[in-house]
Amino acid sequence: MDRQVDVLVVGAGPTGSTAAKYAALGGAEVLLIEKRSEIGTPVRCGEGVAKRWLEEIGLTPSREFICHEVDGARIIAPDGTTLVLDETRAGNECGYILERDLFDRFLAREAAKAGSEIMIKTSAVALLWEDGRVVGARCEHMGETFDVHAKVVIGADGFESQVGRWAGLETPLRTRDIDACLQYTLVGVDGDPRLNDFYLGSCAPGGYAWVFWKDTDVANVGIGVNLSKIQERADAKKYLDRLIARTPGLARGEIVEEVAGAVSVSLPLDRTVAPGVLLAGDAARLIDPLTGGGILNGCLSGRYAGEVAAGAIEGGATEEALRAYDAKWRARMEEELVRHYLIKERLIRIDDETINKVLRAVSEIGVNRLSTSAVLEAIRAKYPEVLKAFDGLL
Ligand SMILES: Cc1cc2nc3c(=O)[nH]c(=O)nc-3n(C[C@H](O)[C@H](O)[C@H](O)COP(=O)(O)OP(=O)(O)OC[C@H]3O[C@@H](n4cnc5c(N)ncnc54)[C@H](O)[C@@H]3O)c2cc1C
Repeated sequence: MDRQVDVLVVGAGPTGSTAAKYAALGGAEVLLIEKRSEIGTPVRCGEGVAKRWLEEIGLTPSREFICHEVDGARIIAPDGTTLVLDETRAGNECGYILERDLFDRFLAREAAKAGSEIMIKTSAVALLWEDGRVVGARCEHMGETFDVHAKVVIGADGFESQVGRWAGLETPLRTRDIDACLQYTLVGVDGDPRLNDFYLGSCAPGGYAWVFWKDTDVANVGIGVNLSKIQERADAKKYLDRLIARTPGLARGEIVEEVAGAVSVSLPLDRTVAPGVLLAGDAARLIDPLTGGGILNGCLSGRYAGEVAAGAIEGGATEEALRAYDAKWRARMEEELVRHYLIKERLIRIDDETINKVLRAVSEIGVNRLSTSAVLEAIRAKYPEVLKAFDGLL
């Protein structure tokens, strides 16, 4: 069963399927492997994405994978002060609500249409090495072990990535750089399905709780809490249940699905390229550390990885050629990821009263006039003491 391909992509999430598609479009012979028996399930995602990014990753919005559309978001402070933001200002999780399982399968189909071969129920279990360079991966499929020799291996194996670790890239995360997440899909809920809700403060220590609408009476209601702020991961459930119980529109709902997971809220990896290996998406810690949203950066980095891998094959996929991938994703997203990381570092330390004051000051500005300088001016005028919490960042 041993195989020889140009590019082996490990993991068929949004990152891996996009990487496979672009590597195949670039002329490479591509094998995409996925350890699960069905691509896209189980879903571990709030399923929210901004509208503008679809274009950037070359996708046309489609009912095939979008189930609901929202106009914006409500940011809710601990004292109930609410800031309403339109979709363009509401961050990278507001705009469309996906059916993530259908979305992942749609992307896999795109990869197949571009010419990639896909193998499900197939896990990478180790990397193959030759002269200090990765030359493929040992794989397992239904009890059989075989080697896939590849000129480039793209690790798109998600938050728990092993490819990065096997390749010697520094992937460990500090406790404070991980949010534990729990989400229910609730049916029979009541609220405004035109706006996604984000609850800030001690109701979700170091993170936030969300309500992402899938229909007029169905919502993904979830929470992400920073691991450094809780005793154990199971505490996420306590906080989520408490929030639902005190929100009448949600408390009347019935749980039809529960998912638990984790997201990195860290800086991206220092190195995402090793000889013969590229790491992309969650595996490279490209999740937005402020919102926990990772689909867009996953797809974008997957696209860059696929393009660079295909382009590097003919010249022997040298490490230097592969490094173009690192430069490409950094040019597009590193500045924002670092800025959001610094903001997150401040936010996990500020108390409820400070959040109340910031939202009170900002909600008086008027959405159309929102800008960083307007926000600072409003806070300075009303609560100058609050600016101290953001010292250094400004
Ligand atoms: C509760 C929760 C809510 C979230 N909500 C949102 C949201 O609303 N919006 C947003 O943008 N992001 C959200 N995220 C983050 C988002 O889900 C991820 O950023 C996204 O899935 C990253 O895609 P990926 O392809 O890099 O990784 P994944 O989607 O994790 O895909 C990795 C794939 O690799 C496979 N795999 C792993 N190891 C191997 C192996 N050895 N061999 C073969 N296959 C392997 C896995 O089975 C998996 O299919 C959320 C995350 C969580 C946990």
